[in-house]
Amino acid sequence: MKAAPFAYVRPGSTQDALAELGRDGAKVLAGGQSLVPVLAMRLGRPSVLVDINAVPELARITRADGQLRVGASARQRHVQHHAAAAEVPLLRLALPWVGHREIRSRGTVCGSVAHADPSAELPAVAACLDATMVVAGAEGVREVPAGEFFTGAMSTVIGAEELLTEVRFPVAAPGEGHGFGEFARRHGDFALAGVAVWVRTTGEDVVARISCFGVSDRPVTRDVSAQLSEALATAGARPTEPDLRRALADHADQIADEVVDTGGDAHASTAYRCRLTAGLLSREVARAYLKSLRSAEEGTSR
Ligand SMILES: Cc1cc2nc3c(=O)[nH]c(=O)nc-3n(C[C@H](O)[C@H](O)[C@H](O)COP(=O)(O)OP(=O)(O)OC[C@H]3O[C@@H](n4cnc5c(N)ncnc54)[C@H](O)[C@@H]3O)c2cc1C
Repeated sequence: MKAAPFAYVRPGSTQDALAELGRDGAKVLAGGQSLVPVLAMRLGRPSVLVDINAVPELARITRADGQLRVGASARQRHVQHHAAAAEVPLLRLALPWVGHREIRSRGTVCGSVAHADPSAELPAVAACLDATMVVAGAEGVREVPAGEFFTGAMSTVIGAEELLTEVRFPVAAPGEGHGFGEFARRHGDFALAGVAVWVRTTGEDVVARISCFGVSDRPVTRDVSAQLSEALATAGARPTEPDLRRALADHADQIADEVVDTGGDAHASTAYRCRLTAGLLSREVARAYLKSLRSAEEGTSR
């Protein structure tokens, strides 16, 4: 099958791109790694593709005000290997799991976030870190916290005439540790279940947040500080990874039961996704906590 006919425009500025998006049936073309298959299968029939790849300011990756700012046409692979991205360890941990190198060479970080596939890695990273989405439209620019951005499967607050110009990820501070894990049938496939974890340890205090993906219609984010503190009370403040995983196991089972709300499908039953999620959670929360301890001692981020 071939794509239905469409017009193609390649504006040179954000303002021109927004003007083109005002046309009826217009759609943004970023890396094309999700949109082109949609067109080829005729699952979508936009009348105009607005290719944003000739807008210089949208390709930028910058660090400002404690944030890594990733522009709309910045490639996933470029971000993965960018020096500034080392300051957002969770992004670095997650990017190798996104498809294959060839996909990441074209696919953009913002495109993945805007596409909002429930099984995608980068929306979960954005949710876990409480990243800020910068959305531009004819009325101006608004900043949307990740927690308010995803509204369902493949759906976000971005309006038909708007453009996600940038995602701003907070850079990690000393005392922060991260974990990321997923299970897919083959490397590069979308995950059956996955978790992104952020932990901050300051003296005796510990704060922990998780985002689970592949298990609901959008990333599911939870504060799990209380569960981690309880596990540490059992395993001790300086546990080994296996001891902490064991202490977290019951909590992880309970969280998994709460967050997994997909019905079973051809790939996995609900019960299997629960087991995967629980296993990934106990492992990655334990790892993130131990990294946060080392990070606090060394004054670096991990
Ligand atoms: C074989 C294969 C395997 C893959 N595996 C994975 C995987 O394991 N994990 C994963 O997460 N992804 C995977 N992908 C998808 C890949 O990550 C895509 O790159 C990503 O989902 C979309 O990014 P893109 O830049 O290609 O966007 P496009 O395909 O150009 O656009 C996708 C959608 O988002 C909209 N859009 C894009 N950018 C913007 C913007 N700035 N503002 C508003 N709307 C915008 C488009 O209009 C379109 O509706 C895979 C793709 C393929 C082909």
